Amino acid sequence: GEAWSLPEIERRRVRILEPLGEGAYGVVHKAFLFKEVVSSAVSLPQTVAVKVFRLPLRGAGIRDILAEVSVLGRVRNAHVVSLVGVITTEFPLCIVMELCTHGSLDGVLRRHPGLFNSARLLMAHDVSCGMEALHAQCIIHRDLAARNVLVDASFRCKVADFGHARRVDGTTEHSHAETDRFAIRWVAPEAVLTRRFSYSTDIWSFGVLMWEIWSHAVLPYHGIANDDILSHIQEGNVLARPQDCPKRVYNLMLSCWTEPTARPAFPVLHTSLAALLDDPGTALSP
Ligand code: ATP
Repeated sequence: GEAWSLPEIERRRVRILEPLGEGAYGVVHKAFLFKEVVSSAVSLPQTVAVKVFRLPLRGAGIRDILAEVSVLGRVRNAHVVSLVGVITTEFPLCIVMELCTHGSLDGVLRRHPGLFNSARLLMAHDVSCGMEALHAQCIIHRDLAARNVLVDASFRCKVADFGHARRVDGTTEHSHAETDRFAIRWVAPEAVLTRRFSYSTDIWSFGVLMWEIWSHAVLPYHGIANDDILSHIQEGNVLARPQDCPKRVYNLMLSCWTEPTARPAFPVLHTSLAALLDDPGTALSP
């Protein structure tokens, strides 16, 4: 199914509520989405999140918006933020999506430093599941990090923020020509060098994301300047095992930071994390 239709939403069905956060392209608001047909019957609106793009569109602009919408619209998975619809017929452009009440994962990790290993494992598991679904649709995320994962009302994680995502046609790599800001601390060294992102570079980033989950989302390689990160990694250094991180979990992170071809694909990571979740007693002793 290559074809999917963009679900256009009439602006009058949306009532914008409080802001939830701000990004490079605009503000995300909580909102009510009312039903299409106004009937005499009382129907509760759906609570959603609406990303309102500010004008003029900055950076890659419209292309990034389309990338985001096309990813959200294609992938139906419990661990990928789902698209409800778009407003494109008038300005401002809006993306209406599922509301994740607890906001970004990095914030959750900072606010809840005392989470159990089982809760952290579930977060890693959820992200691996969402990433497996993205890769199955030939989509490379390119900006996977705790700040780009959202947490819903039941504390389940959903991969989000597809402004940088691209669909791959045929090959495993996609060259990335624009010199936009990219978060070097999450990027695989070969992608820093070549500006080519791949399924394997997403796996590297997932390892860093797992490290954030066990490190209360402190800055990876804190104390090292951006310009020194690549050489630090090339010298063979990796992020250290966070305190309280079980060895078997750390081994999974380490496997994400190997040579590109040696990194475990998301179905493998997903299976390993599910197995650790099923067996917390023996698996999680540090
Ligand atoms: P970028 O600037 O690269 O687009 P960003 O994550 O900073 O990335 P947005 O995607 O615009 O920018 O999101 C801004 C903030 O709004 C997020 O950090 C998050 O806290 C909140 N947010 C975004 N989407 C949702 C959502 N579906 N549910 C709840 N909160 C959300």
